[in-house]
Amino acid sequence: MRLLEAEIDLKALIHNFHTVKAVLKPINPSCRIIAIVKADAYGHGAVEVARALEKRCFAFGVAFLEEAAILRESGIKSKIIVLFDREVEGIFKYDLTPVVFDFKQAQALSKQAQKKGVALPVHIKVETGMGRLGIYNAPCKTIKKIAQLPNIKIEGVMSHLSEAENKEWTTEQIRRFQEIQKCVSNLEINPVFHISNSHGIIYPEALFDAIRPGLMLYGYSQNFEKELKPCMKVKTKIIDIRRLPKGSPISYGRTFITKKASLIGVIPVGYADGYFRKLTNRAKVIVRGKKVPVVGTVCMDLTMIDLTDVPDTEIDDEVILLGESGNEKITAQDIAGWAETIPYEVLTSLGSRAKRKYI
Ligand code: PLP
Repeated sequence: MRLLEAEIDLKALIHNFHTVKAVLKPINPSCRIIAIVKADAYGHGAVEVARALEKRCFAFGVAFLEEAAILRESGIKSKIIVLFDREVEGIFKYDLTPVVFDFKQAQALSKQAQKKGVALPVHIKVETGMGRLGIYNAPCKTIKKIAQLPNIKIEGVMSHLSEAENKEWTTEQIRRFQEIQKCVSNLEINPVFHISNSHGIIYPEALFDAIRPGLMLYGYSQNFEKELKPCMKVKTKIIDIRRLPKGSPISYGRTFITKKASLIGVIPVGYADGYFRKLTNRAKVIVRGKKVPVVGTVCMDLTMIDLTDVPDTEIDDEVILLGESGNEKITAQDIAGWAETIPYEVLTSLGSRAKRKYI
């Protein structure tokens, strides 16, 4: 059986959580943390991540009902906020906190809450410039209308930053959110306000009452690179090594032709595992503490690497695709650069064929 393993360092995760707390402390020590564990905790495994962070954070954030159901069925008891789902029945079944982004959705939840005889906590999402989900017509008036619906308790009001690396635009989004906050403060509902993702943490005014970090928990942030520890390391093993003469074509489309006599290794990982085809002739991997290049087109299940500069390499030697080895390091940011994407996509793309191992 091939080895394709994602080693997830839960101690690094907790370290990163404390780093978020340490950044918040001097600015807003009471700022709550909603740990974002959607998309299987960005590929790290939502159940294990949630178990590691449970009791440390205010709530977890998932995208859809099915993600929340997996957490509940695995024994996670903390508050779970469902960010992007109009689901009604399952919200009650699994004791979840929905994000309401539309009045009709609030009405449906209110109706069901009355039937069940419970008061349902909800977070209301408002538009401030993300242009995705959120109440965009008279948000304060709509919040007031929702507050009057029976059996609905507005626990939070939230929005989302669309370009946190742009100070001017983020300041404008914060200003719009503050305006809504001012208006809502007259309604005597006293909700928790939150707008910030990981990147927004650099703006003290963006912190409000809670923050929703995802990427930072998993060890990535341009602003706190030194303080954070990437949680995921991905490794495989060489399944074949071939000594080829100069002029040998490698892989589909012959996009690489050996320029000299070469030692070419084959690793059992490909685009079906989330090792993007864009990494063809661009990425590097680490073998025996040395970075070596990916050569030829990345296939569905296989990728070729040039081992000419590491001539002692043997079949079954470990290959690091993501993470540290010796003095070398490959980050999700590096892979994102080679594949012309973002670290989020690198982490969330790692397929289910990669076994997760927790350390
Ligand atoms: N909040 C919402 C609504 C999101 O969609 C996301 C991620 O996409 C986050 C928070 C977390 O963002 P980040 O991983 O940049 O911290």
